[in-house]
Amino acid sequence: MPRRNPKAKELTQTIAKQRMLKLISFSESAIRNGNLELSRRYSLMASRIQSHYRIRPSLRNKVCKQCKTLLVPGVTASVRLSSKNRYIVLKCLLCGKESHKVYKKQGTRTLGA
Ligand SMILES: [Zn+2]
Repeated sequence: MPRRNPKAKELTQTIAKQRMLKLISFSESAIRNGNLELSRRYSLMASRIQSHYRIRPSLRNKVCKQCKTLLVPGVTASVRLSSKNRYIVLKCLLCGKESHKVYKKQGTRTLGA
């Protein structure tokens, strides 16, 4: 089996990342124009590209896991902070799916030299 050229892999990664970012921006502009179906289609394509080429950072906090809508704060998502449990609550306004992300505690910084 022939070995793949590492530079070619790098090139496909960068092209895939550019296309993913372009699809995300198209999706966001479609949401702002009120076309939710088109926006979902773009964000679904972007998340497929991201998972196929394993592009980091992932779209986990940008695309709803349930309905595949792009989460734009104030338009399709609400963002709240839970100070008691120290996590960010990202709620999809279309299907109601919530996702949580832990944020760093304050005061955990150590005082160095
Ligand atoms: Zn949703």
